Amino acid sequence: MRLIASIFLSLLLGHPAWSAEKKTETVILITIDGMRWQEVFRGVDNAFFDQEAFIAYKKHHADFKQDFWHADAMARRAALMPFFWNTVAREGQLYGNRDKGSVGEISNTFHFSYPGYSEILTGIADDKRITSNDKILNPNRTILEWLNDMPENNGKVAAFGSWDVFPYIINEDRAGVPVNAGFEAYEGEEQEVAFLNRLQKQVPSPWDTVRLDAFTVGFARAALASQKMKFVYIALGETDDFAHEGFYDQYIRAARRSDKAIAELWQWLQADPRYAGKTTLLITTDHGRGSDSLEAWKHHGRFPYTREDGTLAVSEFKGDGQIWMAALGPDTPAQGEVSGGPTVRLNQIAATAARLLGYRFEDSHEELEAGEAIAPMVGKQ
Ligand SMILES: [Zn+2]
Repeated sequence: MRLIASIFLSLLLGHPAWSAEKKTETVILITIDGMRWQEVFRGVDNAFFDQEAFIAYKKHHADFKQDFWHADAMARRAALMPFFWNTVAREGQLYGNRDKGSVGEISNTFHFSYPGYSEILTGIADDKRITSNDKILNPNRTILEWLNDMPENNGKVAAFGSWDVFPYIINEDRAGVPVNAGFEAYEGEEQEVAFLNRLQKQVPSPWDTVRLDAFTVGFARAALASQKMKFVYIALGETDDFAHEGFYDQYIRAARRSDKAIAELWQWLQADPRYAGKTTLLITTDHGRGSDSLEAWKHHGRFPYTREDGTLAVSEFKGDGQIWMAALGPDTPAQGEVSGGPTVRLNQIAATAARLLGYRFEDSHEELEAGEAIAPMVGKQ
């Protein structure tokens, strides 16, 4: 009802805010779990170097230092995420560098993954119902379900996640949106898919609920190749799990693999006439990590616990609600690394994706209003 009213109002005013012509025909949303803004904008942190406790494979430490360490922060970050700094920073937009006054925040109060992903995908922080990482079907509709329900987009929406909770976050069955996550095989005809399915069974993952990201990316690529998609969500997970285990070198290497996977995907999209010049990438993370000590970096999240004296408390890791985001595509003006400006929030991602595709998502929920599209990312209105 509200949607109809707002369309009417916009027609009356003569400026439907979301109907301006966009070049974007496909949006690919990518998340890198628990990747901190500090590393995105400053590169590897000197405090972690030469501390054996944070290095998983000590005999490779010299290589690690050689690969990632530079005295200059600009060179360090480009070494860590070359696609971000050579392509996105030149042709797209990057938000969340607090050293330059650009602030990215989550809106949910929990600072861990399910509430973060739900906020990204539904545009709302439902703090009453989304309160854990448990496999509970999301009562809220995501942008995937919302898009897939439109006849023109039906069957052209899919999600690929390394973490096995995504079928619940997206509520796969109700949504009618295929979600390939955890250690699921992917149904596809291509040779590469059959190969990845076999390999996925043979390669041990370090974790029992999260697969290695190469499988997630490979299956997503197969879906994009099989037909022209409208919206694909790719959720990478290695960064967060290596960080929880305290292996800074592996967290960093996972971040660079993520950057490389995105770079290769972008190159591939630009070589395919179905996607070239008509596809926008949105990239972000579900939460930050602790920042006031080396130990705190391993953690994030607000969890209730009992103190030694028996009183109740809630865990707190300073900075774990701080996030970054990036956009690259034909409608996003090349503003590069943003300085200052309004705070951007995870709950704005869904509306931003929708606006790029020519829709308005803000009023898609009955009780809560989703975050607004980030105006500079979607270009001229
Ligand atoms: Zn985590």
